[in-house]
Amino acid sequence: MNVVDHVTHVINNKAWSGTSERHGEVHDPATGKITATVDFATAIELDLAVQAAATAFSIWGTTSVAKRTEILFRFRELLSAQRLEVARLVSAEHGKVLNDALGEVSRGIEVVEFACGIGQLTKGEFSENVSTGIDSYSIRQPLGVVAGITPFNFPAMVPMWMFPVAIACGNTFVLKPSEKDPSTSVFLAELLADAGLPEGVFNVVHGDQVAVEAILDHPDVAAVSFVGSTAVARSIYERAAKAGKRVQALGGAKNHMIVMPDADMDIVADAAVNAGYGSAGERCMAISVLVAVGSAGDLIVEKIRERVAHLKVAPATDPKADMGPLITLEHRDRVASYLDSGVNEGAVLAIDGRQHKIDGEPGGYWLGPSLFDNVEPQMSIYRNEIFGPVLSMLRVDDLDEAMELLKSNPYGNGAAIFTSNGSTARRFQAEAEAGMIGINLPIPVPVSYYSFGGWNQSLFGDLHIYGPDGVRFYTRAKAVTARWTGIAHNATLAFPTNN
Ligand code: NAD
Repeated sequence: MNVVDHVTHVINNKAWSGTSERHGEVHDPATGKITATVDFATAIELDLAVQAAATAFSIWGTTSVAKRTEILFRFRELLSAQRLEVARLVSAEHGKVLNDALGEVSRGIEVVEFACGIGQLTKGEFSENVSTGIDSYSIRQPLGVVAGITPFNFPAMVPMWMFPVAIACGNTFVLKPSEKDPSTSVFLAELLADAGLPEGVFNVVHGDQVAVEAILDHPDVAAVSFVGSTAVARSIYERAAKAGKRVQALGGAKNHMIVMPDADMDIVADAAVNAGYGSAGERCMAISVLVAVGSAGDLIVEKIRERVAHLKVAPATDPKADMGPLITLEHRDRVASYLDSGVNEGAVLAIDGRQHKIDGEPGGYWLGPSLFDNVEPQMSIYRNEIFGPVLSMLRVDDLDEAMELLKSNPYGNGAAIFTSNGSTARRFQAEAEAGMIGINLPIPVPVSYYSFGGWNQSLFGDLHIYGPDGVRFYTRAKAVTARWTGIAHNATLAFPTNN
C-alpha cells in the first residue's frame, strides 16, 4: 500500500493547512510513487504567515542576545541528535544517498554554530572624543520580517544557510521551501519550536510561483534571500528590488575544473567522479565541465571510466548506493535529452549513462553517469546548465585557453584547478571569474565563517550568503553621535565641525 502523507504550512509553531484548495504532490524519486500532498499557499495565506512574523518581531527584535543564542544552542543540540532522521527525510523526497544527505545536514549545522556566536558578530565600533566631549559609535539592528525561497537540491542545508543567521540577528523568518521536497523544513520548524523558539519567529509556507510572488509583493517583507535557477533568480532580484526590498538571489552554475598535465591524474579522476556524479549532479557546486590542458585528456577519460564502472546507482535505502535518482521524471528526461543533443552536435559520448546498471525500481527517475569528450564551447551541452550526472570535457592547448573559457562563461559560481605548480594555482585564483575557487579540490563550498556566493549570473545582489556577509545582509547599520558633557548654549546655523 502506498501511504500518502499531508504536508502543511507551519505558522506560529503550529501545523496549519490554510483555506486554499491548491496543493502539489511529492514523489519518491526512487519509485515514482506519490508519497505526500503539500498545501500550496495563496497571497492570503502568505499574508497570515507574514503577520505572525511581524507580531513576533515586536518582541524577538529586542530579545537579548543571550536569550536568542540560548535557543539556537538548544536547536543545534536537537538537530545534531536528530541528524539521521533529517537525512532520511531528505533522501526520501530528494533521492540522494544517505551519506550525502548526512553531509548536507552537517554543513547546515555548521551555520547554526556560526549563528550561536552572533554576539561577537554584531558588535559595533566605538570612537571616543571624535570631537571635544563627543563620542561616535555604530550599531547593527535587525531588518524585521525576512523571507527565504529555496531550491529542491539541498532541502536541509540551503534553508540553514539563511534562517539561523537571520533569526540570531533578531529578524523573524518566513521560509518558502521547494514544493518538491517540503517535509524537511517542517521538521526543522518542529525542532526550533522544541528548542523554545517563540511563536511566529520561524514560519514555513509551501507553494509555487503564487506563494513566491506574494512574498515579493508583500509590503511587510523587508528582505528576500533566494537560491535556485538563474532565470528565476534574476526575476526575483528585479521584482524584489523594485518593491524596495533588500535581496540576494543566488542562481545556477556551470562549474569548470581545469586539469593541468602536471596534476596527479588519480586524484583528478576521483575528484571528477565525486563532484560530477555525487547527488546525481544536482548540486550547484557540482563540476559539470572538465577542461583538460595539453596531454591530460586521454588519461582522464580512462580513469573516469574505470571508476564509473564501480558506481552503484540505487535507492538511498540501499546502504551501498553511491548515486540515487533524479528529482522528477521530467527533469530526468530533460537531462537524458542532452545525451542525444551532444552526440548530434559532434561531441563523443565516452560513457553513456543510459547503459549503466540500475539497482532500483523501474518507475524511479534513473539515469546513470555520463561523460562527453571533445566538447566545443558552442554546443548546447556546454552552454546550458544540465543539472544531472553528465560531465563534459573540453580539450585545450594551454592555461591561457582554459582561462579564456572560464571568462566567457556567463556563470561564475565555483571553479577549480588541479595542478602541482604553485604559480599556476596562484594565477588561477587571481584571474578566475568565479566567487569560489578550489585548488586541488573540486567543491569549494566555504566553511560557515566565510560566505558562499558566485559571480556574474550565479548571483544577483551585493552580498553573499551566511558567514560575515549573511550578518551584513540581515542587519542594517546605524551610526550614533553622542554628547553628554560640555553642552554649551551656542545657537549657530553653521554646519557642525569637529574640534
Ligand atoms: P528553481 O529556480 O526551479 O526553484 C527554486 C525556488 O523557486 C523553489 O522554491 C520554487 O518553488 C521557486 N520557483 C520556481 N519557479 C519559479 C517562478 N517561475 N517564479 C517564482 N518562483 C519560482 O530551482 P530548483 O530546480 O529547485 O533548483 C535547482 C537550481 O538551483 C539549479 O539551477 C541550481 O544551480 C540552483 N542552485 C543554486 C545554488 C547556489 O548557491 N547558487 C544552490 C543550490 C541550487
